[in-house]
Amino acid sequence: MMELITKTTEKETADVQMIEGTVNINGVKLNVYSFLIDHTLIDSGSQTLLEDFQPWFKKQRIDQVFITHNHEDHTGGVTWLQQEKGIPVFIHPDSVEKCKSLEETPVYRQLTWGSRGAFIAQPFSVKMTSENYTWDIIETLGHTQDHLSFYCREKKILFTGDLFVLPHTKAILNSENMQDTLASLRKVLTFDFEAIYCCHAGYLKNGRAMIIEKINYLEKILAKSKDLKEQGLTIEEITAQIFPKKYAIEQFSKGEWGSKYIVNSLLNDQVSG
Ligand SMILES: [Zn+2]
Repeated sequence: MMELITKTTEKETADVQMIEGTVNINGVKLNVYSFLIDHTLIDSGSQTLLEDFQPWFKKQRIDQVFITHNHEDHTGGVTWLQQEKGIPVFIHPDSVEKCKSLEETPVYRQLTWGSRGAFIAQPFSVKMTSENYTWDIIETLGHTQDHLSFYCREKKILFTGDLFVLPHTKAILNSENMQDTLASLRKVLTFDFEAIYCCHAGYLKNGRAMIIEKINYLEKILAKSKDLKEQGLTIEEITAQIFPKKYAIEQFSKGEWGSKYIVNSLLNDQVSG
């Protein structure tokens, strides 16, 4: 039988209030953050965390919701927030239509995060405003094809959604594109910031250095993968060499997550070298 235990923790920095939700499903522990800055909510947690997040949502003044991407652990609270507060919700233009209806996800994801409800979203402009701040909406594809990061000009901080997550990524979703992620990581470095707010790692004071570390890590994986490919190894053989360990998420997700997707997507896009 599946047992789901949830937990929340409220945290804050000088600029941002945040709530972290943790979902523990049969010993597999996953977490997600929702952030509030200048009355703008960035992502909304999952449907399985909504009851735990509601008291926090209720006590805040929230004028608008910015969504980094259409994944159920970021959008699960939106339907309720829109009904409760009647506030505008912004998402990548490509996802506006999709969010009007429910989305089918694999069973393990439904059990962990629940399903997001339908909601009415508006497309982001390249530049957005909140009460006191100006925001650059940066297209940072890779994790998904609708992924955005948000840069607050006045505070020089960056909200990275699921662009960063870990410096040394060992497994990704089969739909992710690591070549795009690499390009997106390089792209955000053109903005002036040190700290980042990541939806799974939370507040990272040295976010810029962590992003550089991730770029270096991925570049090494790419170089090694190319080298092994030239030696005639298959994707499976290359993966076994670079990632000899099997990760719990691979089994838990019935193969929707895996290390081979890192190798595959890094090598796939190597058309022009
Ligand atoms: Zn995601």
